[in-house]
Amino acid sequence: MANSASSARLQNQVALITGGSSGIGAGVAKAMAAEGATVVVNYSHSADEAQAVVDEIKQAGGKAVAIQADVSKEDQVLHMFDEVRRQFTTLHILVNNSGIQQDAKFLDMTLEQWQKVIDVNLTGQFLCAREAAREFVRRGPQPEVSNATGKIICMSSVHEVIPWAGHVNYATSKGGIMQLMKSMAQELAPQKIRVNSIGPGAIATPINLSARDTPEEEKSLLTLIPYGRIGEPADIGKVAVWLASDESDYVTGTTLFADGGMTLYPGFADNG
Ligand code: NAD
Repeated sequence: MANSASSARLQNQVALITGGSSGIGAGVAKAMAAEGATVVVNYSHSADEAQAVVDEIKQAGGKAVAIQADVSKEDQVLHMFDEVRRQFTTLHILVNNSGIQQDAKFLDMTLEQWQKVIDVNLTGQFLCAREAAREFVRRGPQPEVSNATGKIICMSSVHEVIPWAGHVNYATSKGGIMQLMKSMAQELAPQKIRVNSIGPGAIATPINLSARDTPEEEKSLLTLIPYGRIGEPADIGKVAVWLASDESDYVTGTTLFADGGMTLYPGFADNG
């Protein structure tokens, strides 16, 4: 772990990672802790998983706690931010990572499936981003800690631009995150709050296990990835650290796709 004061890019900063108990969120939590951030690992149900991430970070010399909240519930989000302030005084980085899939053919999709995915993936990002931005403005600049008063990173997807049959609730939530992120970035830039998204391609996590658990499925998935490999949570952790650090100080309102080229329309590589 690069945890020395000279090289740590997120030293003296507090980072909240929603859904940090598994998959990409856990990868981001570990990467940010390795750069000196004090990490808050949010989880909705899996206290044991969250604690395992916290323990791993602590064993590596980092600082972390777990805090429970369902990001789609306003009262729980408010309580989580109160708890962050109580324990750590303030917050510097929010990673809006929590997300779910509830897949169904369009003709069969229930209102419940539609609503649940929008509630967690989109409304959850709105609620957490609003509370983070309120905290950044309340606290004001801390130039000795970071050039920006606060940083918000939204976990989007290649499906903010690639349509996805059988997943209209999910693709709609990610398309919505694009405009949420850009509109927040436009509104909050004068307060020196930077807002960006990461658009992962196929990353090996529990969310997509069923789409790659046979060699045939993995082979089929790889035809969509010009770079020739499925991504790992650590690939996204590195991007998140950069977007949270002052190295990206002039970057706001952008989606950084980390997808091995999935958004390059690989079907056209051989003349379409
Ligand atoms: P994952 O299932 O491992 O992680 C999802 C996380 O969200 C879990 O920690 C879960 O506890 C949390 N969560 C679910 N509902 C919640 C709620 N109501 N409140 C708080 N937390 C909740 O899957 P992942 O792949 O790590 O997904 C993380 C994010 O990355 C999601 O937003 C997902 O859409 C996005 N993403 C993943 C991929 C991929 O290929 N894995 C690709 C593009 C985007």
